[in-house]
Amino acid sequence: MSRNLLSRAFWGLVALGLLALVQAFSTERMQADLQALLSQGPRVAGTPAAAAAAEYLAGELRRVGYSVEFFPFTYSRTRDQGTSLVVGGASFPVNGISGSPGRRVEGPLAVVPGAGLAADFAGLNLQGRIALVRRGGIPGLEKARLAAERGALGIVLVTEEPSSTRFTFGGESPIPGATLSRTDGEALFNQAGAWAVLDVRMVSEEVQGRNVIARRGGQSPLAIVGAHYDSVPGSPGANDNASGTVTVLELARQLAADPLSERIWFIFFDGEEDGLWGSRRFVEQNLELVRGLRAMLNLDMVGVDVNGSLGIGGSNELRALVDCAAVQVVCGSAPGGGSDHVPFAQAGVPVLFFFRGLDPNYHRPTDTIADPRLMAQTGRVVQGVLGRLLR
Ligand SMILES: [Zn+2]
Repeated sequence: MSRNLLSRAFWGLVALGLLALVQAFSTERMQADLQALLSQGPRVAGTPAAAAAAEYLAGELRRVGYSVEFFPFTYSRTRDQGTSLVVGGASFPVNGISGSPGRRVEGPLAVVPGAGLAADFAGLNLQGRIALVRRGGIPGLEKARLAAERGALGIVLVTEEPSSTRFTFGGESPIPGATLSRTDGEALFNQAGAWAVLDVRMVSEEVQGRNVIARRGGQSPLAIVGAHYDSVPGSPGANDNASGTVTVLELARQLAADPLSERIWFIFFDGEEDGLWGSRRFVEQNLELVRGLRAMLNLDMVGVDVNGSLGIGGSNELRALVDCAAVQVVCGSAPGGGSDHVPFAQAGVPVLFFFRGLDPNYHRPTDTIADPRLMAQTGRVVQGVLGRLLR
């Protein structure tokens, strides 16, 4: 072996060593975290599963030296209580969707074709009708808004899940909505024009949510790194959003011995799926602290590769600090809205949103898989931004 080759081998080893340092994110540990969170079942805000998840996160963070606080908050959420659907005189088993107004509406059934995407609504006249739409592709709340804009009085979403599965709009729907399983609902697609009576009955319940906040030292934070840990009813929420939760947890471990972490708060938000409650309440109640932030970085759905790249959206000034090539990650763009960075952006804080796109298992019982390697990649990109922002 020539001297030249030897020297190349030496520097190669040094580079590998450096890479190993950068790649200290442990995929084994992240897999164990995922397992621990998923073993609780759906982490619906206010349920024992969400409480157990919060305790798990707090325990892991304290173990590496953070002081952990719970940030409690309450809000009200609606829940089905005896919603019914009758079409052409026959009853169908339906479930009122949380976030739906309680109201009885009736009119001819109107079928929205295809997968019920925005384009499928174009040109439809739903005036005075009950819209029948397949679930998926875009959020149910968007379908309800599209239907309401075209005059629909109510909406029935046909899902792949059993009729008993609870769903949430994740916000307030302008028209009453209910879900119907595909087995029960497929026949209805041939009954356009039949008289439909949709009686959506909802009761409201108080929800006690809890953000988990980890920090070191007594200084006010310059950056917040966050992810919501709650999930929707009926879905284990592996990608949405145990993936972001576990990535932020592992990042907090990586930075536990780094002076950088004295200026960062790691926040695990609750109540996101019911309408960004955890982040909204945190911002409302900490305005002064929030105004001192240089960045809020939010991770949501980063464990499934939908677009072949890590989507990053947000403020231009922060995007300039993103260096994906440095950690060998392929990055693309992400939309501006839809998760816990929004209340911070509205308060004037520069934000970044890390998001790999809506996968086919989004909000379904099949959301059981998140890839720790993709999560570690995301964590390394976030770590790089924090280093450039705060050092
Ligand atoms: Zn999410």
